[in-house]
Amino acid sequence: MQATNGAAATPDRETQLPRIRVAGLTKRYPMPAGDVQALRGVDLAVQAGELVAVMGPSGSGKSTLLHILACLDRPTSGQYWLDGTPVSKLSVRQLARVRNRRIGMVFQSFNLLPRASALENVTLPLLYAGVTGKPAEERAALALAAVGLAERAQNHPNQLSGGQQQRVAIARSLVTGPAIILADEPTGNLDTKTSEEIMAILQQLNQAGATIVLVTHEPDIAAYCPRIVRFADGQVAEDVPNPTPRQASAAPVRDAAEGVA
Ligand code: ADP
Ligand code: MG
Repeated sequence: MQATNGAAATPDRETQLPRIRVAGLTKRYPMPAGDVQALRGVDLAVQAGELVAVMGPSGSGKSTLLHILACLDRPTSGQYWLDGTPVSKLSVRQLARVRNRRIGMVFQSFNLLPRASALENVTLPLLYAGVTGKPAEERAALALAAVGLAERAQNHPNQLSGGQQQRVAIARSLVTGPAIILADEPTGNLDTKTSEEIMAILQQLNQAGATIVLVTHEPDIAAYCPRIVRFADGQVAEDVPNPTPRQASAAPVRDAAEGVA
């Protein structure tokens, strides 16, 4: 049964429906030199509360899949159900709402607005959701505190390290309380220690209930995830549990606690 009231109030773990399910997903990019077949029939289900790494060589279709999961792009063929709802049936308005409320997106290159402060960057999805003024600022400040950046709220991106910028981007992705976080190579521009801090935050969000799909080509990063899906040539080549996921050090969380105390 599908809840018709606020989706955030749905007891997701009890519905049994996969949070994400795709079947026979294909994506073809028409190009002058010949079409590129980026996805060749992807079948995948992700349950609420999972933390999944999607690995695979460059060009194997990982980002294409993530963009479709984020409702930023449509498949050429195949089906995508989000909490049991066929995404292809959603109107443009409903899609925009899903993107804003249900899904948080994190990118390798952070994608922050350079002329806006950390706080303003994090506030942006709230403005799109119709939350403005003091309530928006307070929620954005809480999201920044959750990633250990309470004291950097007024800094602009160029006044922050790469790791701090990615933490701002994560705060922006979670400020509307999305059920799903999709991260495309979130540690791709970061050193090992900073990557571990980012993974600590993602593991913490996952433990708090977020469903996370994380694209990475680094085995060290996938090792933090209890499930690893391997892509090859636009298809799922392997989908295996990782029974002993690494636990990332939780230093940023302590920062966050100090920041709000
Ligand atoms: P990955 O993230 O695994 O590196 P991508 O999903 O980015 O792979 O790309 C898969 C294939 O689709 C590649 O051959 C890539 O060049 C092609 N591709 C991706 N995006 C586009 C696009 N917007 N237009 C044309 N081809 C694209
Ligand atoms: Mg990619």
